[in-house]
Amino acid sequence: MKIADMNWFQVETYLKSDDRVILPLGSTEQHAYLSLCTDFILSNKLAEETGEGCGVPVYPGLPYGIAPYFSAYPGTVTIRPETYGDFVTDILASLVKSGFKRVLIINGHGGNCPVEEIIRPWLGKVPECRVLFHNWWSSKAVMEAVHKVSPNASHASWMENFPWTRLAEVPLPPEEKAPCDPDNLKQLPPEKVRSILGDGNYGGAYQAGDDAMLTIWRTAVAETTHLLDTGWTN
Ligand SMILES: [Zn+2]
Repeated sequence: MKIADMNWFQVETYLKSDDRVILPLGSTEQHAYLSLCTDFILSNKLAEETGEGCGVPVYPGLPYGIAPYFSAYPGTVTIRPETYGDFVTDILASLVKSGFKRVLIINGHGGNCPVEEIIRPWLGKVPECRVLFHNWWSSKAVMEAVHKVSPNASHASWMENFPWTRLAEVPLPPEEKAPCDPDNLKQLPPEKVRSILGDGNYGGAYQAGDDAMLTIWRTAVAETTHLLDTGWTN
């Protein structure tokens, strides 16, 4: 149930029988040959499919995130962590004010991970609220499914190349790129990151078969659905 397809009467009615809601976080940043919006497309789609299956409302995903290290790549947008944390906190406060008490954040971008800690001071003031922060791409089941295809999989490689993130008519390099060490990149300014990373792939082949990708996707939807149903702590 997308919030875009609901009116406030319907939200009020929903809240009489359930208090769960989904908020996807994305990013618009270089993804080598894939869409700049890959992290937004994936977290938003995963949220919509999970919410549809469970009958839980899904808020529009945030298309931007925290990605300062990619700022030397044209098209990348990065939000300051404190700004982003404040923005997400205000959204959460609005959801709680509406009557939602259990918020599943489906995060699609590693740079947004600090948000889980940034919101804690606010969360401490609303003891009735639960926020479940799910980094969907690095979760146990998804990682297992990815490693069955190849352990050499990372940012902007085949593991993010789904029929809904790849661009038509864009040829992909046939070779497999050697993995890089993300921890080394963290020390470097954006221009240096770009000069080392080149096209932006952190390592891995550029495309896998669609059957493999659909298996990974179905694994992600099943795992996220399970989390939405059973992942809450009292
Ligand atoms: Zn990504």
